[in-house]
Amino acid sequence: MAQPRVVTIHYTLTNDEGEQLDSSRGEGREPLTYLEGAQNIIGGLESALNEKAAGDALKVDIEPADGYGEVNEELVQPVPLSAFEGVETIEPGMQFQAQTPGGPQVVRVVEVGEETVTIDANHPLAGQTLHFDVEVVETREASEEEAEHGHVH
Ligand code: ZN
Repeated sequence: MAQPRVVTIHYTLTNDEGEQLDSSRGEGREPLTYLEGAQNIIGGLESALNEKAAGDALKVDIEPADGYGEVNEELVQPVPLSAFEGVETIEPGMQFQAQTPGGPQVVRVVEVGEETVTIDANHPLAGQTLHFDVEVVETREASEEEAEHGHVH
């Protein structure tokens, strides 16, 4: 089997409304480097970049299924207000790191009631069609150690 590649890209991500959600091109930002075949980036973007070489530029539209998944209503849940003991103010939109059996997870506050707080553990980009404007900066063959570890050194 051929060695996977290490690919460096610049990208700008916008949503359906054309709002910019993220970009590697901003001030103080750096291009993104990933190892092929190691789920370092979302599947839809990686497959679009499969055969691309340095200098190639492309636009990729990614449906939720190939991005951050559909919104799962079961991940929107009320928790008792007492779970936020020690937090001075709780407001919709705030994010917390929660400990779950599957490891640490970011949850967002959706609604604050008298005794409960409704939280949403979906990825913030779940359910969204993603529009990437990408340019390949550099590619190289991964080292055996990188391929074994599943990440770039
Ligand atoms: Zn390593």
